[in-house]
Amino acid sequence: MIATLHASLIDRLRRAQHLAVFTGAGMSAESGIPTFRDRLTGLWAHTDPVEVATPQAFRRDPQRVWDWHVHLASAVAAAQPNAGHRALAALAGKLPRLSVVTQNIDSLHQAAGSRDVIELHGNLFRLKPFIDEDAAFEAAEPPVICRVCDGYAAWRDCDPWASREDFARLRLAAGPVPRCPCCGARLRPDVVWFNEMLDPQVLDAAMSAVDACDAMLCIGSSLEVEPAASLPWRALRRGAAVIEVNPQPTALTPHVTALPGTAAQVLPQLLATVWN
Ligand code: NAD
Repeated sequence: MIATLHASLIDRLRRAQHLAVFTGAGMSAESGIPTFRDRLTGLWAHTDPVEVATPQAFRRDPQRVWDWHVHLASAVAAAQPNAGHRALAALAGKLPRLSVVTQNIDSLHQAAGSRDVIELHGNLFRLKPFIDEDAAFEAAEPPVICRVCDGYAAWRDCDPWASREDFARLRLAAGPVPRCPCCGARLRPDVVWFNEMLDPQVLDAAMSAVDACDAMLCIGSSLEVEPAASLPWRALRRGAAVIEVNPQPTALTPHVTALPGTAAQVLPQLLATVWN
């Protein structure tokens, strides 16, 4: 499939000063983590993620949502970076700048050695407080920001002896939903659930990387989840060379150079053809 790359595009990629890499769930499919679109099989077979990955579901039944994420984390923790992740990590040393913008929550880019990784949808292995905006609004006293978990709290609930180190020791693991050692807020995985906004600072960082790039690789994303899906279009509008790696066509395919194939097959070949 790399044979289809035009010589002028190879030259343009070789001269790129800043390559942005945008990845979706397909990037990790060959590491054994199914995409959501594979949800009738494997990891997602018995539960629709839309039922358990929302703030509404956590409010209704925190233990069920926690247990589902623990199950997901056990599969993700067993996964290893694939040849595609490793090719991207190696590529960083061959260009002045490479930014990875990922929708994945699995840490596999970092495990492969990538440094500058922007995690648009958070990270499964980090915890944060569950902030119930409605409860905070209805509370008798204005909430304070908990000094340990940064969530909303009532100051009289806060334990003055609790520390950030106590919080940092808590993990996504089987058992009851943990609580902040200072304010008692329930903790949840630091991922973006359905019906939630992206962290504005993270989205800004991703847009800055896209605006500064002269070439982009768009890998393993169906481009159906906004606002992430707009990023390759943004790069295209700005005149960057955009290359898509995906075994299936997407809405972007007719507008860019498409390399139909999987991440673990195509990326090592692309690295060898263009940058070696
Ligand atoms: P998605 O919208 O990114 O779709 C998956 C895409 O990957 C499809 O276009 C498919 O054709 C392509 N694909 C499948 N196998 C591939 C391969 N081997 N190489 C390259 N491309 C391949 O992702 P989704 O499944 O709709 O998930 C939506 C969101 O759910 C993601 O944005 C992410 O936040 C989250 N999610 C994360 C993970 C993870 O962290 N590994 C896994 C599943 C879902």
